[in-house]
Amino acid sequence: MNRRQFIGIAAGTAAGFGLWRFTRSSASAGPPVGHARPSTASEVQTVEKSDSEWREELAPDAYKVLRKEGTEAPGSSALNAVKAKGEFQCAGCGLALFPSDYKYESGTGWPSFYDYIDGHLEFKTDFKMLMPRKEYHCARCGGHQGHVFKDGPDPTGLRYCNNGVALKFVPADDRDDQPA
Ligand SMILES: [Zn+2]
Repeated sequence: MNRRQFIGIAAGTAAGFGLWRFTRSSASAGPPVGHARPSTASEVQTVEKSDSEWREELAPDAYKVLRKEGTEAPGSSALNAVKAKGEFQCAGCGLALFPSDYKYESGTGWPSFYDYIDGHLEFKTDFKMLMPRKEYHCARCGGHQGHVFKDGPDPTGLRYCNNGVALKFVPADDRDDQPA
């Protein structure tokens, strides 16, 4: 195990965020985090909070999906209909996960994407159903997002089937780095 952890306190700058634990997976002094497209998940600083902190911070439906790997009812998310330019961020920590360009209409009733921002998702296999599924979650806060299936469109052939309640959509117009 070559991960090392250190603990930092966001000295009251972000009310309600409390104790933040940052994990870097490399012992070397790598480049500072925060540049636009980290190429590996190890460049994303992780955020860990206690279950009670998440429960307090998140809406009940978002908590159930993000922290307990629940699944929202199909067709229940307003994000299904979003076709605007922008980005979809983790509802738990705000990390950008999917540019709107990667969204497509899968007909499943869940927001669907054919790719994700490199390094911003992590994967594991879950055995909750009869067939093993590949679960994915936010690389920063660990919040469960959805499952990936091999019936997506080109160019990846993959379908990232995401819970809408685990995402927030930020229109391009609202971002500082976009021209008006
Ligand atoms: Zn997150």
